[in-house]
Amino acid sequence: MGKTLVIGAGGVSSAAVHKMAMNSDIFSEITLASRRKFKCDDIAKSVKEKTGVEIKTAEVDAMDVAAVVALIKESGAELLVNLALPYQDLKLMDACLEAGINYLDTANYEPEDEAKFEYHWQWAYQERFKEAGLTAILGSGFDPGVTSVFATWLKKHKLENIRQIDILDCNGGDNGKAFATNFNPEINIREVTADARHWEKGDWVTSPAMTHKVAFDFPGVGEKNMYLMYHEELESLKTHFTEIERARFWMTFGDAYINHVRVLEGIGMTSIEPVMHEGHEIIPLQFLKSVLPDPSGLGELTKGKTCIGDIATGQAKDGSGEKTYYIYNICDHEECYAEVGSQAVSYTTGVPAMIGAAQILKGNWKEPGVWNMEQLDPDNFMDMLNEHGLPWQVKELDGPVQF
Ligand code: NDP
Repeated sequence: MGKTLVIGAGGVSSAAVHKMAMNSDIFSEITLASRRKFKCDDIAKSVKEKTGVEIKTAEVDAMDVAAVVALIKESGAELLVNLALPYQDLKLMDACLEAGINYLDTANYEPEDEAKFEYHWQWAYQERFKEAGLTAILGSGFDPGVTSVFATWLKKHKLENIRQIDILDCNGGDNGKAFATNFNPEINIREVTADARHWEKGDWVTSPAMTHKVAFDFPGVGEKNMYLMYHEELESLKTHFTEIERARFWMTFGDAYINHVRVLEGIGMTSIEPVMHEGHEIIPLQFLKSVLPDPSGLGELTKGKTCIGDIATGQAKDGSGEKTYYIYNICDHEECYAEVGSQAVSYTTGVPAMIGAAQILKGNWKEPGVWNMEQLDPDNFMDMLNEHGLPWQVKELDGPVQF
């Protein structure tokens, strides 16, 4: 159906490219490019073994717009799927505009020297994509991504409006390591050490990172401590669903993880301010990343399940008063590894990236412009989640959350 160029060859990319190859009726030709070609070749070898599909590989620096444009032209792609890092989003959007192809990513742009999770840089591309007749889809992972589509599906089928929403992200998996992150360590640690922020009655409420803790009994996982934190979809959800009074994001962390982060932060290892080390300037967090386990190698070691979803409260469509729904997916680390060689955090991000890309190639999401996931029709995306390894469930709760 369409030729696709994937940029980045980490954990998320590996899961996404395997799933694209399993759907070769939609992804007729895949080119995978990253800054180190051998990482692409490793993924291509596994894809060939698991699916029989040949993918092309290339080396490219995503910050080099001219090189990316040349690669787009050479590959004949009509869609670029950005599974590199958030720092590269704007350059890759520039390359798509210049080459005249569509764009999709899983994380909002971040300047490398500021841990700011804001959409305005990418929203500023709206007119340029519209005028070029091209589509850019932002945040097609699980959160943001599936959690945003869950909210839209509830609003389309169950609730007239969403008064309050809580996004609950639980990783009940264990990889046996003293300390390891489940996706890129640099991005993960920037996220969890940032101030917690939630939307309440028309304003942001800020609190220190990892201080507001609640125990929650997650379906398929059991009781875990989850912490209030900021996540980028809060900004887009409160912007596009203007009726939302309160929007919060929660993520589970074990005590050992929290203790490690606190110690590392206390001694300055999570800082993104440059320091001099033996005559060279280094960024402590980037150095830390280089000594931590590579998340793409954790697949074989990780056991347990993830459970990610939304609890939303609003007026029922059928006029029966206020209702609360919990909509979620449970995903098993070992099953993901058996299928595509990745742990569930890479899988739950890579599969929605594949499904979002499929929406563009199938022509379901073709409106020119820059869109967040909750702005798009949810139905085919939700069907594809059920068909491609991320089945979801929805249940009515007795009332709004009490935490
Ligand atoms: P990884 O670090 O494993 O992979 C990133 C890849 O991008 C690596 O292959 C890296 O190359 C490559 N890369 C980095 N810089 C460049 C560059 N300048 N040019 C070309 N390639 C480059 O990250 P993950 O797979 O864990 O995460 C990928 C993305 O997914 C991130 O943006 C992350 O924030 C997002 N994410 C989104 C989630 C969601 O639910 N929405 C959840 C989890 C992650 P090299 O291998 O050489 O380092």
